[in-house]
Amino acid sequence: MRATEATRIYFDAAADQLDLSPSMRRLLLTAKREVQVSIPIELDSGELATFIGYRVQHNDARGPLKGGLRYHPQVDLDEVRGLAALMTWKTAVVNIPYGGAKGGVSVDPAARSLRELERITRRFVDEIHDLFGPDVDIPAPDMGTNAEMMAWIMNQYGKYRGFSPACVTGKPVEYHGLPGREEATGRGVGTLTLKLLGRLGRRIPGTRVAIQGFGNVGTHTAKYLADAECRIVAVGDAGAAYHRSAGLDVLDLLRHAREHGGRLSGFTGGDAITAAELLATDCDVLIPAALGGVLTTANAGSVRAPIIIEAANAPVEPDADGIFAQRGTLVLPDILANAGGVTASWFEWVQNRQHYQWGINRVRQELDRILGESFEQVWQLAQSRQVSLRTAAYMLGVGRVAKATVLGGVA
Ligand code: NAD
Repeated sequence: MRATEATRIYFDAAADQLDLSPSMRRLLLTAKREVQVSIPIELDSGELATFIGYRVQHNDARGPLKGGLRYHPQVDLDEVRGLAALMTWKTAVVNIPYGGAKGGVSVDPAARSLRELERITRRFVDEIHDLFGPDVDIPAPDMGTNAEMMAWIMNQYGKYRGFSPACVTGKPVEYHGLPGREEATGRGVGTLTLKLLGRLGRRIPGTRVAIQGFGNVGTHTAKYLADAECRIVAVGDAGAAYHRSAGLDVLDLLRHAREHGGRLSGFTGGDAITAAELLATDCDVLIPAALGGVLTTANAGSVRAPIIIEAANAPVEPDADGIFAQRGTLVLPDILANAGGVTASWFEWVQNRQHYQWGINRVRQELDRILGESFEQVWQLAQSRQVSLRTAAYMLGVGRVAKATVLGGVA
């Protein structure tokens, strides 16, 4: 299913509950601006290669546009459009003063050298520097991009506009970044998982967790939940997956990945399983933390976990979501589950503007507070309206954006 179609289905369910008019629905679903640019660079071989970059600025009714930048071969305009809308609802769910945007370049970062990636990133900034900035639209890392690339973005943007650290978030701590930003999405996934388990009256120590994806989000989620005495029984990435019913040693997994270019392949502390077996692991909590669209009608029936936490963006397709709802499988939706990243990005942006820096403890404390309050609001709304957690989260997010639109006016 196309990304925009999936987000539209979830939006409609909330809009029906909120009784939004057709004209307000059309306004909220229509992106403010969509940009596609060509990114020609010289490869290390001396050959010329042209990549395609996108930035979709969905809605800025609640504040400057905010959203990650994804480097992946499957990036296209539809995917970026769908992800940009998700950002609008996500920033509204956690009630931070931003709108939503997303960007991406259709490139396989694993197949390109660091210098080629730097040339792509700087050239992308050259093409869109007049469309983003501290008060306009603030990019951040997403799949396939990292803190180093955010530093290149700030540096390149500065060549046009001077010193502007708040033009991008997720920067290295040594280069105007925020202590705790890198762990924030995974920490948030972990915190919210514990909140949900608590609300359901389930015991946390010994909870069996399976995680798909062992990048930024997957690693920090695994670490946080292992520290809370959960048992990480299965973990996988793009190349391999491993299972151990007594629990994998997360520190060992992290060490292995660090020593093998971030990859899990060759890990000896568990039994190798297939990617399909990972999703069907006998466990209490399944956490997809890699790509979108991984849980579909084809495999939803084989999922054994009673709880799914959407750490990735859009990992559950709407038809699979319907199957889970029927079966009583609880899904904590992406627009809440992975909102820790954008919340910490907001802290980074605020501090860049104040030329001040918080310590890690304050970052964690504020992050936990905002996510905890947002979870409670979503939970209460789901209970009082007898809707799914996803519909409740969308109701909260879409409702806030609609309200801001009315208050600001459109003329
Ligand atoms: P990343 O690039 O750091 O890691 C991605 C991981 O997914 C890697 O381990 C990779 O091997 C794995 N992967 C890729 N294809 C796979 C496949 N087919 N099967 C299994 N594993 C596969 O990316 P990330 O930043 O951790 O982002 C992961 C997800 O979380 C994305 O959906 C992203 O949009 C979402 N997200 C990230 C952030 C953030 O702050 N980084 C914030 C919100 C949402």
